[in-house]
Formats: sequence, C-alpha cells, structure tokens
Amino acid sequence: MNTTISFADLSLAPEILKALGESGYITPTPVQAQAIPIVLANNDLMAGAQTGTGKTAAFALPMLQKLLPHASSSTSPARHPVRALILVPTRELAIQVEESVRTYALYTKLRSLVVFGGVDIRTQTPHLKTGVEILVATPGRLLDHIEQKSVLLNQVQMLVLDEADRMLDMGFMPALKRILALLPKQRQTLMFSATFSNEIKKLSEEFLTSPALIEVARSNATAENVTQKVYLVEQADKHVVLAGLLRGSDATQALVFTKTKLTASRLAKQLQRDGVAADAIHGDKTQLERIQALDAFKQGRVAVLIATDVAARGLDIDQLPMVINYEIPSAAEDYVHRIGRTGRAGASGKAISLVSPEEEKYLKEIEKLIKHEIEKEHAVVAQPAVKASARPRNEYHERKVSPAVAAKKSGHDPWFDRPYEPSGSVTSINPPAQPANKPKTGVAALLVRRPS
Ligand code: AMP
Repeated sequence: MNTTISFADLSLAPEILKALGESGYITPTPVQAQAIPIVLANNDLMAGAQTGTGKTAAFALPMLQKLLPHASSSTSPARHPVRALILVPTRELAIQVEESVRTYALYTKLRSLVVFGGVDIRTQTPHLKTGVEILVATPGRLLDHIEQKSVLLNQVQMLVLDEADRMLDMGFMPALKRILALLPKQRQTLMFSATFSNEIKKLSEEFLTSPALIEVARSNATAENVTQKVYLVEQADKHVVLAGLLRGSDATQALVFTKTKLTASRLAKQLQRDGVAADAIHGDKTQLERIQALDAFKQGRVAVLIATDVAARGLDIDQLPMVINYEIPSAAEDYVHRIGRTGRAGASGKAISLVSPEEEKYLKEIEKLIKHEIEKEHAVVAQPAVKASARPRNEYHERKVSPAVAAKKSGHDPWFDRPYEPSGSVTSINPPAQPANKPKTGVAALLVRRPS
C-alpha cells in the first residue's frame, strides 16, 4: 500500500502549492509531514531536526497558511504588522530561511524581510518601516531595531526559534529572554533544534506551552555513516582527479556539485565525451529539462549528475552512494546540504571534496561548522610521460604513467589504488571498456600523499 502523502493532503492553499510545485517539491519530507498538521492545529511544537531535513518548510508552510487571511495589498504599514518572528543564530541561516519563505510566499501578498548584524542598520530600517508580516532575524540585530523603535512586536502570533541549540551555544540566551518578554503571551511557539540537551529541554519548558514533540532521523553529513574526505588538488588538475575518482569507484552513481552553471555544463560535456553517462542540471535549464535529467538519474540511466546548489534544491534522491564537491561552496551550510544527500536513512555514503589552495579558507569554515576536521590527502597529478605534441587535446583524456611514476605511486588510498583501466566489473559510472582493436588511451597518474 502506498502511504506517501502529498502536499495537497496537508490542507495548504493553492497559491502555496503552486510555489512548491515550481520549486520541484513533490512529497513532504518526514519533518514536514509531521510538523505541518501540528502547526496548523495551533499547537506549540518542539522538533528535533537538523539542516537538510526540510525543517524550514516544516514551519514556513503552515505559517504562510495561517497568515493568509491577513495578506493585504494595502500600502499602509499599519496593515502589515509583524505577525510571525523567526529567530536564527547566524546571518547565513537568516538569509537562507528568508529566501525560502519568500519562495513559498511568491503567490501570496504576505511580505517577509531579513535583518542581521554586520551591516549598516540604516539600510534595514526603511524596509522594516514599510511593514512586513514575517520577520527573520538574528537576536542581536533585532534588539538593536527594537531599541531604535523601528519595529513593534506586539502583534506577533507565531514565534519560531530555529537551530535553538546553536543559539544557546552562541550565548544568545539573554537576548532571547529580552525579546520574548516583548511578545504577546498568547502566541504559538515552535522550536527546532538538532539536539535535545537538558538546556534545550529547559528552554522549551520556559518558552513553550504543552508542545507536541517530534524527532526525525539525522540526515546530514555529520552523520557517522557518511565518510568525508578532502583531496587537496590544484584547480587545473581537478578534472583528472575527478575522472580517476569516478573510474576507481565502487559507487554506481554520484552527484557532483559545481559552483557555477558554466562549470556544470562543461564538466557534463567532458564526461560524456569520455563515455560516462553524465548530465547537468542548473538554473539555465528549463524545469522540464531538469525533471527529465533527475528522472534519468533516479532510474539509473544517468550515472553522474552534475548540479549547482540552486538546481540541487529540492532534489530528493534516496540511496545516493556518493557526493563529490568538484568545487566546495563558499557558504559552509551549503556543504552540509550537499553532502546530506548521501547516507540517508541509515545507508552509508561517501562525500568527497576536491579543494584547491584558493578554496582552503572555505574548508576551514566548513570544519568549524561541522565541528570536526575532515581527513585530507594531497592528490598530485603526475606529468604525462608523452611528448607535448602527442598529448590528447581533450583535457579529460587520461595521461600516461611513466614506469618511474607508477613505482612511486603510494597507493594507500582505495580510491586511487586501482589501476586506471576499465575494470572487469564495469559499473554504470565507469565508461564502457574500449573495443580491443582500438588503441588504449593512457591512464591517469595520481600520486597521493598525506599532508605534512
Ligand atoms: P532545510 O532543512 O530546510 O534547510 O532544507 C534542505 C533542502 O531541502 C533545501 O534545499 C530545501 O529546498 C529542500 N527541500 C525542503 N523540503 C523539500 C521537499 N519536500 N522536497 C524536496 N526538497 C525539499
């Protein structure tokens, strides 16, 4: 029996469903399926859910649904008081949450705004004064606005504390207390937290009234069942290393992330020329093209799907064995989103990142966010032992190993251990073996050593 519920089953208005459809959301994630009915029934909620589980829509969708009767096209600020307040620990999360709210609210007349510290407060004040129904804020900056009287919170009917555990870790408790004292007592409060520590329980007892409790399985990259690894590699050598990874992998499929649309399409074309069933999805592709590529990937007809962060939003793929960051994201949270796509539902997964010297600063941010160091190795691409004039023009063609290089190859890493020749067991990732009468191209030479 198919018990999968759809968004339409969750009593959401057509204008919200339309925006979800355009975002490529088909079925609610577990946290959404559980939280949305609870929130619509006006209960307080304490949810154990991490980034990557779809928690933002879990609170934003019922929020929009409940605020719809207040939507107004009037230009008077008085008709747009803050009715929902979403407090988050960081500016990155604030931006991301407000972007999601705005996407889901596209076909409603509800307004949203994000305010966070680190930028001139005067750039935010005029927007606040025009009136917004949904305000996403970091606690410190919100207090600044309260002091400057640029915002009133006496009509807030819904409060969301997102990533509450991180807010406590970051020392926001006094600020939260001050803000909460200014909100109407009669309101609905939702709290999302990755952990249920004693402090979080105390916080929920203090701020929430008989909350419903839900907890969804961890599905992000910090899960123990996802093996993370970094290969330090020059930008110009990344394509050779990627080809080696794909060839040497046991994985049947991989999702490869790039930063730009251009790199995504170029990479897909290069891999196709190498005989790999690859396709790219990015913002320049039509919705139909994206759906077709995704379907082909889900059905296994495409082995390597290359995506930008934007295009990967809404990708819902079960059992994805490997995620490769061809370029790591500059926003650390995106890393968590990206690699949260593997190792779902307890399955094991691999998350590999190719990091150039220019990207190492982003890697540090990522390690700070996930609170641990990722294992690193240098991937050095040996110079081909062929004459320059004889080198293949296609940069994806493999290079030849000189005997000396082959002897030096340290070979401790399972990814690089295998000979880079089509193996007997061709997986769907590997290009088809070359016909016997066709001359073989060279093989990629990778020297791998641990960073000193
Ligand atoms: P979050 O945990 O809210 O940060 O969401 C993680 C990612 O999942 C975001 O990129 C969302 O756009 C995406 N997402 C959220 N809900 C769904 C859904 N029901 N179907 C597909 N993707 C979703």
